[in-house]
Amino acid sequence: MTSDSRDQAPSPTTSPSSDFRRQGHALVDWIADYFDHVESFPVLARVKPGEIAAALPDHAPEEPEPFEAVMADFERILVPGLTHWNHPGFLAYFPITGSAPGALAEFLSAALNQQAMLWRTSPAATELESVALGWLRRLIGLPDAFEGVIYDTASVGTLHALTAAREATAADVRAKGWLARTDVPGARVYCSDQAHSSVDKAMITMGLGLDSLCKIPTDERFRMRVDLLADAIERDRRAGLLPLAVVATVGTTSTTSVDPVPDIAAVCEQEHVWLHVDAAYGGAAAMLPSHAGVLAGADRADSVIVNPHKWLFTPFDLSAFYSRRMDVIRSAFALTPDYLRTQEAGDVRNLMDTGIQLGRRFRSLKLWMILRWFGARTMRARIAEHIRLAQLVASWIDAHKDFERLAPVPLSVVCFRWNPAQGGLSDAELDAANAELMNLVNSTGEIYVSHTNLRGRLSLRVAIGHLDTAERHVRRAWDLLTLHAAALR
Ligand code: PLP
Repeated sequence: MTSDSRDQAPSPTTSPSSDFRRQGHALVDWIADYFDHVESFPVLARVKPGEIAAALPDHAPEEPEPFEAVMADFERILVPGLTHWNHPGFLAYFPITGSAPGALAEFLSAALNQQAMLWRTSPAATELESVALGWLRRLIGLPDAFEGVIYDTASVGTLHALTAAREATAADVRAKGWLARTDVPGARVYCSDQAHSSVDKAMITMGLGLDSLCKIPTDERFRMRVDLLADAIERDRRAGLLPLAVVATVGTTSTTSVDPVPDIAAVCEQEHVWLHVDAAYGGAAAMLPSHAGVLAGADRADSVIVNPHKWLFTPFDLSAFYSRRMDVIRSAFALTPDYLRTQEAGDVRNLMDTGIQLGRRFRSLKLWMILRWFGARTMRARIAEHIRLAQLVASWIDAHKDFERLAPVPLSVVCFRWNPAQGGLSDAELDAANAELMNLVNSTGEIYVSHTNLRGRLSLRVAIGHLDTAERHVRRAWDLLTLHAAALR
């Protein structure tokens, strides 16, 4: 530091380091208290739409405000508007846990402010991404031939996979585009009727259109019917259409069903169609020797997605995308303007080449810290416990005369509904009653469960994936469900 810079007053745009230290310590204390007392908050926010925005001024302040004042407003106005994904009673959707190492890593990452578009703009972030993704790849048993890249979400990963499939299959789309061309046949993408809506969104974004997405019916266990997939591809080829890709799901959003990936891979190999495996949620289970089979056949896929921000205790967001054909992803996306050329290009991996975004934040730091902080053994034990708890909930449902299970439980989600014995209620009445039951238990603030639609019937859904969700939480959820169901009568 030069004497000049030492003499300068602290920049008005930054805090003097003594203030930062004090504020940072206070913030860490706040977070530690939050983690300790998260169960004292209602899981689901109790505010009304517009309430938070109405409590905040319309304009940014002209003058600096003290950090303490900002924190006071954060506690008074924003905290009541938080739905607590960190609450172990959060049993909705797929729970995401903001673990301690994840929070610390995010803090550090923001301070370092790395932008890893090029290797040289952050050699550490670039290389750590490969290392951390390599660790995860080995933990879930994918072969080393799969190169990894981190995207924000699985939705974005699926968009990249389908774009790569188009690049691999169709004539020069990169240069000539796709729309209004008479020399390329209409394209088709296939997924099951249980696949996540991100596949539909990718079709919309790519301009392929929803009509070009063929939803293959599922069997009684909500798994893609491979015979119908093969028929659909054959039918489309006869009609002069171009099958681009199949999206198989390992752990579907509603029931966590696992598509028969080995059989789907065989069809894709025969038809030369890109296979993308969406294991956003289910892939984590492959860490367990008992569940390694969930990713069977994924080694034959062209691309695979696993979301550490779903079931690997990583705060949102971090989605791991793997491909055996990252060269195709690069030929779809790599584009280097003069001002981004570097002398080491060719010897290094520039992350901007493997996706649509240029700027990329240092997400691998949290994955690396989380894997080291917990160690694989602890992570496996938590995932195994979640699967055990789901089986326990399923056994309570199966033993209760007024509840029925609506799907098998391959992983850590249970789908069921209240259906009173001798009730004689129609499906529409049961849908209404179950929606009411869900709202009643959620209004207690102790738990949060969500719903789905299974073959036209409203199903309640208990999803166990939070790091700290223990037997007492699922017992309490079951007590609340049975208690309020009894009142429904
Ligand atoms: N795939 C599956 C199976 C999902 O359940 C979800 C979200 O729940 C997604 C993809 C999309 O995940 P993301 O929020 O990372 O885009």
